[in-house]
Amino acid sequence: MRPRAGRTARRDRCVNVLRGWSMSDVTRQQIDDWMAGLRGAVIQPEDPGYEAARQVWNGMVDCRPAAVVRCAGVADVQAALAFARSNGMRVAVRGGGHNIAGTGVCDGGLVIDLSMQRGVRIDPDARMAWVDPGATLADFDHEAQAFGLATPLGINSTTGVAGLTLGGGFGWLSRRHGMTVDNLLGAQMLTADGRLHRLDAKHEEDLFWAIRGGGGNFGVVTMFEFGLHPVGPEIYGGLVVYPAEQADQVLPAYRRFIAAASDDLAVWAVLRLAPPLPFLPPSVHGQPVVVFASCHVGKPDSGPDAVAPVREFGQPCGEHLGPMPYTAWQKAFDPLLTPGARNYWKSHNLASLGDPVFAALMQALREVPSPECEIFIAALGGEAGRPAGDAMAYAHRDADFIVNIHGRWQRAEDDARCVGWARESFDRLSQFALGTVYVNFLTSDESPRVSAAYGPNYERLARIKGRVDPNNLFRGNQNIAPLQ
Ligand SMILES: Cc1cc2nc3c(=O)[nH]c(=O)nc-3n(C[C@H](O)[C@H](O)[C@H](O)COP(=O)(O)OP(=O)(O)OC[C@H]3O[C@@H](n4cnc5c(N)ncnc54)[C@H](O)[C@@H]3O)c2cc1C
Repeated sequence: MRPRAGRTARRDRCVNVLRGWSMSDVTRQQIDDWMAGLRGAVIQPEDPGYEAARQVWNGMVDCRPAAVVRCAGVADVQAALAFARSNGMRVAVRGGGHNIAGTGVCDGGLVIDLSMQRGVRIDPDARMAWVDPGATLADFDHEAQAFGLATPLGINSTTGVAGLTLGGGFGWLSRRHGMTVDNLLGAQMLTADGRLHRLDAKHEEDLFWAIRGGGGNFGVVTMFEFGLHPVGPEIYGGLVVYPAEQADQVLPAYRRFIAAASDDLAVWAVLRLAPPLPFLPPSVHGQPVVVFASCHVGKPDSGPDAVAPVREFGQPCGEHLGPMPYTAWQKAFDPLLTPGARNYWKSHNLASLGDPVFAALMQALREVPSPECEIFIAALGGEAGRPAGDAMAYAHRDADFIVNIHGRWQRAEDDARCVGWARESFDRLSQFALGTVYVNFLTSDESPRVSAAYGPNYERLARIKGRVDPNNLFRGNQNIAPLQ
């Protein structure tokens, strides 16, 4: 890793590597000037840190960029964009590196890596947060919870705030407080021409509309500004586990219950082989189970009563419920979602959970090819469903459920089997789904579904894209073709 230029012995190699990978016309002087002007570091294939720098969360992604520029601030991002632009380089923008399609990295181009910028500043009186573009959900929750505050984020604490927010963002708080984008009050963004924009309800409303669900198509967001809500610091929740043999009873009971549940309560269902959790009897480990994960954010003493019906869907084979710090719940699933495993996910938006949906999901569970694969049903609704579909770029307010088929395994030789399982399970569900999809769950081979991810807002997004990024510099994403 080199913080700056000026190492003559390595410069020649630098020129060669960059030339060899993707640039036609880079001179030594250009590279020197660029590197000398950065506060952050440039990592290239011959550098010791390169292998680590090109990794992203999904172990299936194996890209070799020409260089990774670890930007220390806005000026570095601006310089990186100028360098990429003038040398015709492909660009990838990386926040937390969790995108399942691996869009945070690219082959042969320049990765603008923001992961060093993890600052989070809270104003407890104004209930506002200013978040840097490399912050993880854990960083955000840690700072906000020091004041008993939070905004809706996802369920795996190592995910990046940036990518999650730009696609929409949902998690345990979404039924009470909406999607992450519903709580985004402003942003700063560098567009392809290097200009810094202030985006909010009063400044560049169109662009502000676009980044709330339109992904990384419009520029590099260098700062996010969120509204916060009092949450916790303790919530009531946890897991209730049923043997899969009771699925015919517990899944319909879940459907009835969640339809009438308070917005203070989120209950998601997970179908998988039971991990060896300490509260489960050993005889259940490795057996197919239906797990209900609950998070109640209402008055603390009403938590047990609110969650009690989940324990009565059938006869649980194990449960782990109680009050716990919100930050602990936000990390509860991290051990099942560690980076580096091979992952292939397929996702559907659904308006309802009919019996045929459950039948299809149970077939997927019976055929599950690895102990790490799972099917999850995220229940949205509540505040996440109330805004109009065109209030901002995120369009899917009718998706009360997001159903994911999570293919996850360790060995490359299992790729075909596990990918095949995810695709077949997904196909069986298609006839019951809305036909739309959450952009942040698209895999790398789903370009035909990109327009479904932006839904009826696609054309407006394409016009905005045509205005701010006519040459499609930001195409390393679920791409919106610029409409001029
Ligand atoms: C284990 C796991 C759990 C998840 N759980 C949830 C969940 O509960 N809820 C949910 O909503 N989503 C969830 N997701 C999906 C998640 O929102 C996406 O994977 C998201 O893209 C991750 O953002 P990132 O910054 O970590 O990713 P990265 O791979 O770093 O970035 C993804 C893309 O976002 C764009 N981008 C990132 N930073 C910027 C920036 N500063 N400016 C402009 N563009 C930028 C770029 O196009 C980039 O390619 C989960 C994903 C995983 C892997």
